[in-house]
Amino acid sequence: MAKISIDINSGTIQKDNAVIGIDLGTTNSLIATINPKTKKPFCLPIHGKNSMPSALYFDAQKIEVGSMALEKLVSDPKNTLYSIKRLMGRSFHDLGHELNKLNYKIVDNHDQLVQVRIDDQFYSPIELSSYILKELKKVGQKELQKDIQKVVITVPAYFNDSQRQATRDAGKLAGLDVLRIINEPTAASLAYGIGINTDQPKTVAIYDLGGGTFDISILKIQQGIFEVLSTNGDTALGGDDIDQAIKNYWISFYDLKLLSRSKNQLLRLTAEEAKIQLSKDKSFHKKIAIQNQHITLELDRDRMNTILSPIIEKSIAICKNALSDANLSTDEIEEVILVGGSTRTLAVKQAVQKLFSSANVNDDINPDEVVALGAAIEADILAGNRTDMLLLDVTPLSLGIETIGGLMDVLIPRNSKIPIQLKKEYTTSIDGQVNLAVNVYQGEREMIKDNRKIGEFILKGIPAMPAGIPKIEMSFMLNADGILQVSAKELRSGVKQEITLKPQYGISDEQIKTMLQDSIKFAQSDMDERSLAETITEANQLIYATHKFMRDNPQLLLEKHIQTMSGLIRKLEDSIHKKDRLTINNRIEELNEFTKPFAEQVMDHQISKALRGKNIT
Ligand code: ADP
Ligand code: MG
Repeated sequence: MAKISIDINSGTIQKDNAVIGIDLGTTNSLIATINPKTKKPFCLPIHGKNSMPSALYFDAQKIEVGSMALEKLVSDPKNTLYSIKRLMGRSFHDLGHELNKLNYKIVDNHDQLVQVRIDDQFYSPIELSSYILKELKKVGQKELQKDIQKVVITVPAYFNDSQRQATRDAGKLAGLDVLRIINEPTAASLAYGIGINTDQPKTVAIYDLGGGTFDISILKIQQGIFEVLSTNGDTALGGDDIDQAIKNYWISFYDLKLLSRSKNQLLRLTAEEAKIQLSKDKSFHKKIAIQNQHITLELDRDRMNTILSPIIEKSIAICKNALSDANLSTDEIEEVILVGGSTRTLAVKQAVQKLFSSANVNDDINPDEVVALGAAIEADILAGNRTDMLLLDVTPLSLGIETIGGLMDVLIPRNSKIPIQLKKEYTTSIDGQVNLAVNVYQGEREMIKDNRKIGEFILKGIPAMPAGIPKIEMSFMLNADGILQVSAKELRSGVKQEITLKPQYGISDEQIKTMLQDSIKFAQSDMDERSLAETITEANQLIYATHKFMRDNPQLLLEKHIQTMSGLIRKLEDSIHKKDRLTINNRIEELNEFTKPFAEQVMDHQISKALRGKNIT
């Protein structure tokens, strides 16, 4: 039975909500949802097809989305936008040679994210993507007769945080509640149910040959955790290249020269038609009008296979690189999943099967739909509709802050399931300290110098208080997309400061691995170093407190007491200088022993507080 919700305030009945998965592709975009009866995912038809070209056309009055826009690619190319996904979260410099693939005007904003120029208007890729998402939402709502709010959107596994954030923002701009951004290979595995409901770890290769891009991802799936072992690919390799190769073959075979732009396009579209038909038939022929004559373009499957073999070979070489990055041999891959329209070409399928000869090649699910279907399953899980599956993401490295002595104090330990929020209380180490530097680090080592700094800020305006009195609450919140929000709040005064960080930005899987290996390798020396740093901090605090005590309580002390204390302090300072932990400890003891009776006399809270407790620099 469908659930009906009633708004208690207005008394109106709300429409049922649908939860959907979106494959926001470079070439094509799809939406999928779960059939409430069968519990199986399915793709929603869009304008009569199962996918919508990710294209936009800027008319004088309005913006067309999808196939209507794509049709304008020939007649009005500068107002027709495609491959917007390539621009997401990237600067002009980031784009590099990918720029050659795009025929519309892209604005160089130096280090900033690029914009697209149409006439005298500027658009951000986020805004442009949001038009595609809005259209998908509109079509989906109409089809389902339900509201669409909650969605899961997929992105390539190699997308960095800036690209993920841009995708999330596009969703928000389209009026969607983005439950999560997930990796396309993860979605594809979910669609095949790989890694779910089993305790056995699986190593999976996802081969994704789309329209303009090729991606290979190697995943390790274990107890609902999808770990990306390596990704590789080519942003300029895909079905478009196959079309181009067929077109070039025809041009030379039929001696077609100096074609107009529109005839070129016609030839390209016919090449794609041939390629698609040859996925099921053995031969293709079609009569077209070209250069004032009618010719019949012909192609058979064997010829096509010869034409496209360099393209396939290129992708296979990339697969081998991905395997070596993951430190795996081909026979360690248990499952292969075929994704992307171009994997329907039989020669592609055969080449993949040949490379991964001992793996099970999954191609039962439509390769164009598999990512969207998996996204729908994930959306369904996140909406709380499925309890049989658990999908977890974990943070690969610990996150923490620098505490006095250059120590790493961890707030979120590595392998924590995300989203997660953790809080910890700290205090100051100097009297009247009004500013506090918060340095955020990532890594497993004991000393911050061996970890990776990911951000810093200063908590300013703490009211002057004796050391140890301010209560500073640090909060770390890591959301499901891996974005970290760090905030520091002095609880007595309410002074607050926060920062948003992207811990995974600019760090490769390889670097993460090295960091983990180093933490094991240096475990013992790290522990020694940490203990020494802690002891030195303790000693410095005791010296500080003793000086303060002598200054504040001259009436309690005779000259000989002051002499002894100063002598003990000098000895302690000397041992700190020599960095010998045992000696420092002994001298701390000595000084403590001597000062304790005096300290007890005044029952000075501050001094005893300053002698314990953790302090930030
Ligand atoms: P993207 O992920 O880049 O959006 P898709 O996965 O939708 O791309 O793949 C689009 C590509 O798949 C196009 O190059 C298209 O020509 C190709 N394609 C679609 N159907 C077939 C088919 N039956 N045989 C071969 N190629 C196909
Ligand atoms: Mg795709």
